[in-house]
Parts: sequence; structure tokens; C-alpha cells
Amino acid sequence: MNSGKNNHYDYDVIIIGAGIGGLVCGCYLAKAGMKVLIAEQHHKPGGYCTSFKRRGFTFDAAAHSFGSYRKDGNMRRILEALDLDKRIKITRYTPSDIIISPDYKVTFWADTDRTVRELQNAFPEESKSISNFIEYLTTSKPIDFAVLRKKTFKELLDQYFRNEKLKAILSIPILGNGALPPSLISAFTGAKIFTEFILDGGYYAGDCMQALPDTLAERFKELGGTLKTSCLVKRIKVKDNEAKGVALENGKDFSAKYVISNSDARQTFLKLLGNKIVKKDILHKIDSMTPSLSIFILYLGIDKPPKSLPEPGTNVWFLPDYNIDDLYLSAKNMTTEIKYFMMRFSPDKKTILAFANAPFKNKDFWHSNKPKFIDTFIKNIEINLVPGLSTRVVYKDAATPYTLYRYTLNYNGAAYGWATFPSQLFTPELKSTTPIKGLFLTGHWTTHTQGIPGVAYLGYDVAKLILKKEKIYKK
Ligand SMILES: Cc1cc2nc3c(=O)[nH]c(=O)nc-3n(C[C@H](O)[C@H](O)[C@H](O)COP(=O)(O)OP(=O)(O)OC[C@H]3O[C@@H](n4cnc5c(N)ncnc54)[C@H](O)[C@@H]3O)c2cc1C
Repeated sequence: MNSGKNNHYDYDVIIIGAGIGGLVCGCYLAKAGMKVLIAEQHHKPGGYCTSFKRRGFTFDAAAHSFGSYRKDGNMRRILEALDLDKRIKITRYTPSDIIISPDYKVTFWADTDRTVRELQNAFPEESKSISNFIEYLTTSKPIDFAVLRKKTFKELLDQYFRNEKLKAILSIPILGNGALPPSLISAFTGAKIFTEFILDGGYYAGDCMQALPDTLAERFKELGGTLKTSCLVKRIKVKDNEAKGVALENGKDFSAKYVISNSDARQTFLKLLGNKIVKKDILHKIDSMTPSLSIFILYLGIDKPPKSLPEPGTNVWFLPDYNIDDLYLSAKNMTTEIKYFMMRFSPDKKTILAFANAPFKNKDFWHSNKPKFIDTFIKNIEINLVPGLSTRVVYKDAATPYTLYRYTLNYNGAAYGWATFPSQLFTPELKSTTPIKGLFLTGHWTTHTQGIPGVAYLGYDVAKLILKKEKIYKK
């Protein structure tokens, strides 16, 4: 069905990419009666939120849990608004995160007061600061968070704490989930990761994470949307600085009043639009921006769980020492083997996923080095967290930064879109609206969001912009 207003176009809206951002956006637009096409180059929807099967084991490919599902959390509000909260079973695993350092084991429970008490027991001299910090994070309004845009997360931590070990412990999930140390990541992003992914984290969709995009895709089609998979967009068609549709790799063209790109923003500006359409200074700016670091992900199938495995569904962070800046540099330069990492026993109790931040290297590098990395990573987990692990492994494989690029086209396999330095946050050219009329961006390559709740919210927000333009937005 066409909205009726734009029936001289093939579609009202074409969305490039069926990541969580694109799917949520598509659902809201289709629900309002717009005729929407989502073109996805992979053979299944989900982007970084997919799962795959190997030799009877099911693995989450990248994203393995999500946050912001408390009452009034963005994820809950979105799934409720799309009538999906009852269709998809959401389980919350607690503790969501455990941090193991040389001297401490710190646990993040679903009950924040319990988390605060445990942190206070471990660091009694910081007792008051711990409650103040958590209270600040959990009760601040969005406007207060805006103050954090120009600061680093380190500056925020220094405002509250003196104990360097405590600061490192609070920073390791930020390093893993934001791919930057506190001295470089914006306080805004660090605080968002803390509130939306750690303190309100541990949620899991259905039997594996693929359930989330699959349910969104099913709902999108039910609402009249068209999802074409294995459908690569080669070009965004523009006339007189206005987006007019897309050209596909298979030679077909579709016209639309609006185009929304959920794909890598470098690809959007440098390739899908190109230098005949985008002004030189904008291209130059985007070309000079830094993407986030990538990730090396280990997938293990096990025959019998070793007793020392953590609870299923809990992210366990291994922090070998307290110098977070050095740890980050070791990952960025890949000078030595993996030092810090996250590991997780899957909810189905059959597999283990572990990951470590890693830089982009080409296909040949990984072809020669992947087996070595897999084996040293398993040894590392065995020595530090799970004795006897290697004897229980019956299937092992890994996704390298190159694999992440190959499956999603995210530039350099960037894990979280742009590196969220304060200087790269809220870049004017990389927000939802673009200098091209009718072209919008959604997903983790706009410069103020990341993680599943972040991109889901942005998907909703971009849909709202278009529905307002079309005067069909209903609260
Ligand atoms: C290893 C790893 C672990 C993570 N863990 C978590 C986690 O546990 N929880 C969490 O909240 N977040 C996690 N994240 C981050 C989270 O997965 C992402 O922020 C989020 O999924 C990004 O969604 P998106 O819609 O912006 O983009 P993407 O997921 O990147 O989707 C973009 C889509 O566009 C498609 N596409 C690209 N170019 C084209 C084209 N030219 N034509 C057609 N289609 C195209 C791609 O194939 C892809 O499907 C993790 C990320 C990584 C890498």
C-alpha cells in the first residue's frame, strides 16, 4: 500500500540496511501506512545482531545481550509500541557483568542497590563517592547528560574517585563496549554505556539474538513493508541535491521520496553518493574521521561445561592490570597477544563467546594468524578464568575484524561506528538529517549513538522526522 501522497514513486521510503536501526525505523514508517522497502545486502537481517549455526551449535555473531529494557527504558518502549513485547521472549540474566581483576571480583546485579553495596564493601574508603556516582548516572535527566559531551569519561571518574584500581574496574566494560579507554571516550558515551548497558543490562532475546531482528522483520512485513535480502545498494540516486531513490547491484533501480541509510556512513558519503554529489569539504571531513576499533570474537562449542564456568548469560571481564591506557594500546597496536577480554557462557549452556578489541588487518593477515589467535585466546581464558577449558572444546572458530567487515560492510570492521572521542561526537554532517534533501542517516554511524538500544531509538527518531514532514506523526 502506498501512503497515497507519493504514489508516483516506487516507494515512499527506501532504507539501506536491515540492522536493528533500519528495521525499527522501517516498522514505525510501515505502521504509519508508508510504503517502505528495506534493501539488505546480507542474506539475513540483523547486521551486527545476528546468530549462526555450526555443527549443531548456535552462536551469537557479535551482539550478545542488550540493555535499556527497564520500565520506560527505550528498548521496552519501542518493542511495546510495535506490539512486539509479548511476541518475543525477553529474559534478563543477572548478574549482567562481573569484573575479575588481580585483587577484586566486582559483580553488577540487576539490583543496583546490591551492586552499590558490593562496590562499597570492596572500596570502603570510596563509599560515599560510589553512591553519589551511581545516583548521578541513574537519576540525571538527558539535559544533564548534555553537559558531559565535551568531557572524557576519565574526567568524570576523577570528579568522583581517587582509587585508581576502582577507576580501572569501572572502566573495563567501557573499554570493551566502547572500544576506547576513559581518557579518550566522551563522558556522554561512557555514562550511556554504564546506565543503559551495565546497570540496566543483561537482557536476551528469545533463544538467540537473531530472534530480535527476525521478529522485527516479520512485523515489518506484516505491516506491509518489503524486505529484500541479498540486495546490495550500489548508489543513492540524487537530482538537484535531493535523494530520488537507489540503484542496486543487480541492475534494478527503485525511486522513493525519502532514502534512509542504515549502512556505514563512510560508504554512504564516499561511495553511494560520491564526489559529484557531496561537497569536497564534507567528503574530506568524513574521510579524516576515526572509526572505532574492531573486535576479535572467539566462538567455542563445548561437550560438557567445566565447573568453573560463570553463570550463563553473564559477561565476565578479565582485567589483568590497572593501566587501562596501556591495555587499550596493546589492543590497538596488537603488539602482543590478547591481554584483556570479555567471555560469556551462552544462555543455552552449550557455547562460549569471548571477545577482545582488535585493529583492522587485511584478509591475508588473518588467514595466516587467526588459528594462532584462537589457540592463545583459549589458553588465556583457561589460565585466568576457566581451568580445563581446552579439554572441553569440541568446536572452535573466530570472527576477525575482516569477517565483521565482510558480513556487514562496516568500514574496517568498526565495532561501534565512529570512535566516540568528544571531538567526534555530534558531528553536524553525521546526524540524522544530511546536507542532501530527503536523505537521512540512522544507526551507529551517526555520531551520538551506539549499541542496540541506541540504534533502536535512533531508528524510531528518524521515522518520527519523516512522519512529521508527511504530517502523519501521531504520538
Ligand atoms: C562484537 C560486537 C559485540 C557487540 N555486542 C553488543 C551487545 O552485546 N549489546 C549491544 O547493545 N550492542 C553490541 N554491539 C553493538 C551493536 O551490535 C551495534 O551498535 C548495532 O547492532 C548496530 O546496528 P545498526 O543498525 O546501526 O548497524 P549494523 O548492525 O551495522 O547494520 C547495518 C546493515 O546495513 C547493511 N548494509 C551495509 N551496506 C549496505 C548496502 N550497500 N546495501 C544493502 N545493505 C547494506 C549491512 O549488511 C547491515 O545488515 C556489539 C558490536 C560488536 C561488533
